[in-house]
Amino acid sequence: MQNIHQTACRKLVKHFKLYNELFNPQQRRLLRETTVQRRTSFSGKMAPRNSSRNLRVLLDMDGVLADFEGQFLKRFREKYPHDPFVPLDERSGFYVTKQYYALGQDIGTKAFGIYEEKGFFLDLQPIDGAIEAAREMAEMEGVDVYICTSPIKKYTHCVVEKYQWLDKHLGKEWMERMILTRDKTVINGDLLIDDKPNITGGMNPPKWQHVLFTSYHNRDVVLQDGQIRLDGWLPHSRWRDILEQKRQEISEQ
Ligand SMILES: [Mg+2]
Repeated sequence: MQNIHQTACRKLVKHFKLYNELFNPQQRRLLRETTVQRRTSFSGKMAPRNSSRNLRVLLDMDGVLADFEGQFLKRFREKYPHDPFVPLDERSGFYVTKQYYALGQDIGTKAFGIYEEKGFFLDLQPIDGAIEAAREMAEMEGVDVYICTSPIKKYTHCVVEKYQWLDKHLGKEWMERMILTRDKTVINGDLLIDDKPNITGGMNPPKWQHVLFTSYHNRDVVLQDGQIRLDGWLPHSRWRDILEQKRQEISEQ
């Protein structure tokens, strides 16, 4: 080992002598300056070590882009006009059927059937300002937007209609952004805008920060650690500020 080291040192000395013999001091300075310039220009094309990356925003569909609650009540009242129902301003708890089961076993069963019917998910009306906000967000420089939605277990109509809804309201190019999952915690994102107060799953904690989108059922829910509330999409909504703040956090990491 020592011999190898000695040989390497002798070669280095030999090359250093050769270098000094070949180039005069002015030429050696020029060579050093050229090398530094090449390094600088190369690193200039690379992203700085802590540079910001794109912000990844996950948008829930039902209750955030599409008016699930309004459509549910409308359909229920049309189909069962003589049955008791829960007005929107009396909604509480994430699962609408749970509240209907409290009115009677048969009412709960009827409620369940409402959103399993063909056309329910396709006919959902967009929430006010949601389509405009989603488009604006997707066009923002440095922001990647995905749709992150959980189909119901009886998926026959729901899955295909979620794609159709996205196509109808936002266009074919949005198909690329669709993420269908029953477990949103395993999806990698920076922000998840979702109306469900407690989102649990295989990844604890998830990588994203939860922005709780206000809906009738979650108005009185107390925010948990790290959650932020977003009250809607309309003009004075703070969604742009929330994205900007998260982008700032990422750039400081
Ligand atoms: Mg939802």
